[in-house]
Amino acid sequence: MNRPRIAVIGAGISGLAAANTLQEAGAYVTVIEKSRGLGGRVATRRIGDLAVDHGAQNIKPGKSPLSVVMTNQLSAKDLVEIKKPVCLWSEDGGVHEPDDAHNQSPKYSYYNGINTLARLLASQLQGLGGSVVLNATIHHFTVNNATVEIFDINDLSLGEYQGVVVSAPLPQAADIIANSAPFTPYPLQMLDRVRSLRQIEYRSCISVMLGYYNAPMSPDYYALLAQDKAADLQWLAFESSKGSGHCKGTHDVLIAQMGTRFSKYCYLEEDAITASRVVTELQSMVGPSFQSPDWYQVKRWRYSQPIGMVHFEEANPAGNEGNLLVCGDGLRPNGGKIHEAYLSGVDAGDRGAALWL
Ligand SMILES: Cc1cc2nc3c(=O)[nH]c(=O)nc-3n(C[C@H](O)[C@H](O)[C@H](O)COP(=O)(O)OP(=O)(O)OC[C@H]3O[C@@H](n4cnc5c(N)ncnc54)[C@H](O)[C@@H]3O)c2cc1C
Repeated sequence: MNRPRIAVIGAGISGLAAANTLQEAGAYVTVIEKSRGLGGRVATRRIGDLAVDHGAQNIKPGKSPLSVVMTNQLSAKDLVEIKKPVCLWSEDGGVHEPDDAHNQSPKYSYYNGINTLARLLASQLQGLGGSVVLNATIHHFTVNNATVEIFDINDLSLGEYQGVVVSAPLPQAADIIANSAPFTPYPLQMLDRVRSLRQIEYRSCISVMLGYYNAPMSPDYYALLAQDKAADLQWLAFESSKGSGHCKGTHDVLIAQMGTRFSKYCYLEEDAITASRVVTELQSMVGPSFQSPDWYQVKRWRYSQPIGMVHFEEANPAGNEGNLLVCGDGLRPNGGKIHEAYLSGVDAGDRGAALWL
């Protein structure tokens, strides 16, 4: 029997979860990703011999299915539990007792960076016979006689498939579907789906990495979270607190993640200006000894976390799926979390298996 060929657009955690679910169910899956690496917002930058997590900070799977996958199904060799607590920080009172919401369930990263999770999921897929294509940005697809043909931004065909799962953040998924609508037998239904996906926005987030060759201190907490949700500096983490693969010797990296207002207004600013603003901000949290980083890098996340959600059934209406499914963290309650993105991918994979296999 011929195995149906399925394309998954996006190699973030939801796309890789959908791909593995479909591949395990008997499809032949190709994941197509626009970046040169895996993981999407679960991102690690290599800086010298350091692994720096500049997107998602830690994985807190709780009792979700991702917890079992991480500990029993994938290799747990490099999994690192972050033992130090997250503390609350307020402008008047400084550092407070550990924040229960952030410390009651275990939080993890990996020795070589958080995107190891994506690399392990991709290896699992490849081990089952699936494949991953990097550096290919999808612009649209066409549907003819139940066959989907996928095209990149240079109008190059990336092959024909029986089904496609779009796992990009919902605004980007909506763009791909809107571009495709005229090339399908059901343009109006496609545009209805675009309208559903556009119901929610994502907040943007500026993430600044600051390196100190001789870090002034290694605190007994892992990160500080601003108590004031409107503060410019929302999150400040010490990479050395995660596990030794993240930092070597006295070299430490601070990750500053900025609030919605700051990220919006400084989004187009030059890196040097943004970094100097952040250095000024963080002194109120950790003091003047951190005022002279040896290096910095700035990452701007246009789509950081969804504000609200679109129900899975609304994004993937029964009887109206055509050859298309959508998944991602914007389709989950409490979205904007890795384990929720994973669940959304499994949902799409299960639905795809029922439709296409
Ligand atoms: C700064 C920041 C901090 C965060 N902190 C945490 C945290 O501490 N803990 C936590 O659980 N979650 C955190 N999150 C949220 C978490 O990272 C996301 O919820 C989760 O990774 C989303 O996964 P996804 O697969 O739905 O989307 P993504 O990871 O965005 O994956 C989508 C993929 O699709 C690709 N793509 C998009 N368009 C195209 C196209 N046209 N063609 C091909 N490929 C395309 C993208 O490149 C990307 O790789 C954070 C996110 C950010 C940005």
